[in-house]
Amino acid sequence: MDFDPIERYREMTGSEIQRVQERKLRDYIRYQLYPFSPYYNRLFDEKGIDPNSIMTLKDLETIPLTRKSDIMPDASNPKRYKDFILQPDPEKIRKHWPRSKLIGLKVKDIIKGDLAMDLHREYYPTFMIATSGTTGNNVPFMFSERDIKQFSNIYASLTEVTKLDMKWVVLNTFPFAPHLAFIFVYFVNLYLPLRMFHTGGGAVTSTLKTLEVVKQVDANVLIGIPSYIYHLLRKAQEKGTDLSSIRLVVTAGEKLSMSTRKRITEILKERGATDFKIFDVYGTTEMRDAYPECTPGKGVFHIHPNMHICEIVDPETGKQKKEGESGALAVTNIDGRGSVICRFLIGDIFEGGIQYGKCPHCGREGPRLVGPIGRIRDYHRSLELTNVKGTLLNLNAFYDIMPTIDGIDEWQVSIEKKNNDPSDLDMIRVKVAPKEGIDMVKLEKEIKERVNDSIEINPVVDAHYTMDELFEEMGGKIKVQRIVDTRAP
Ligand SMILES: [Zn+2]
Repeated sequence: MDFDPIERYREMTGSEIQRVQERKLRDYIRYQLYPFSPYYNRLFDEKGIDPNSIMTLKDLETIPLTRKSDIMPDASNPKRYKDFILQPDPEKIRKHWPRSKLIGLKVKDIIKGDLAMDLHREYYPTFMIATSGTTGNNVPFMFSERDIKQFSNIYASLTEVTKLDMKWVVLNTFPFAPHLAFIFVYFVNLYLPLRMFHTGGGAVTSTLKTLEVVKQVDANVLIGIPSYIYHLLRKAQEKGTDLSSIRLVVTAGEKLSMSTRKRITEILKERGATDFKIFDVYGTTEMRDAYPECTPGKGVFHIHPNMHICEIVDPETGKQKKEGESGALAVTNIDGRGSVICRFLIGDIFEGGIQYGKCPHCGREGPRLVGPIGRIRDYHRSLELTNVKGTLLNLNAFYDIMPTIDGIDEWQVSIEKKNNDPSDLDMIRVKVAPKEGIDMVKLEKEIKERVNDSIEINPVVDAHYTMDELFEEMGGKIKVQRIVDTRAP
């Protein structure tokens, strides 16, 4: 069961990578996506798209974007996720594959109506992760045996990008959950001779116990959600834990703000660490993949060119943006079995767009996504703040404002209905856990002023939380939510 390993792309120039990607795209759409994906087979037929007409990156524009709503289950199709799984059968193979591709297969088995065993193992979905949606809305994404091998190979390349020394000991604090984050690290563990400990996250191993484990195993690498890592380090500060062994921090699962990065750095230095780096990782379940930034703090994420083509597009029209122009990320599989996507709109904006050729930061070649990253729905959130009209707000501004206000340990923004009344106006509540000994009146005033300066609204500030209470309310043990919308849908 061969797969295309990532190592061979390291020697290629940017234009060689693009040529290989376009060749893979052509073959993938003809021989995998169109014949075997029920959703895309139907989509291409309905829209009259000839699968043979997709030859280049630019040609992708003729295919409609796939949106989150297209993969979500509903009453008419509660198992919609199945439509995104590649499902070959002998008839489809005979119809769509060229003679040259059939030669390697056991023709007898195909004629008999059974798939050859190796094809079965290549495609059969054996492993699942799911999006962390609300109840009933999680969407499963499947891996086949071949996928597990191929994705482990690309996940393991994280160690090369972050220069993770194979002698280092890794502490993985991602929650035990069928989410990409934990599985990603676990697959790296199985693929490489690397010593790792998996705590299961705050809901499985208490934060104090986790700190003990750091000492017990002489951890050199901390991996987790930024707010959990920050939480862990603040506890270490409180307890006076020695962190001099730490050489690398890797965070994923939510935005790592510049100020969280700064505070993680401060605490590590204070607790004795002298030589360490902090890498942010961008990933999503739908890609079944995650990209580490190539240089700490630069917000530049090289894609895995053997697996996906990434486009930066206008999220409404699907039209591609120019190189370096801000837009929404759409991801297309050019390899992989199991659940696959084509022009899937992830829901994130990359303000620096996509860049090709040689990277000015690390010197590597190939396509890369450039931050800052914001969520589409936070850019254009519609709020009824007055009786006059709906206001469109960019709530991503909170990620910039809140961490720069002194005296805040934790924060969350919640969009609510006034008086909890569905027919009343909308309001924004800023929940804050203040640092000890802070002048609350001053803090509240500063938050209101800064928010008003930036997005011209007057929030309610609620600063009665302790750090632990707010962390709990934000879902910090599993997945932190910084901006929540509690209005009825
Ligand atoms: Zn780079």
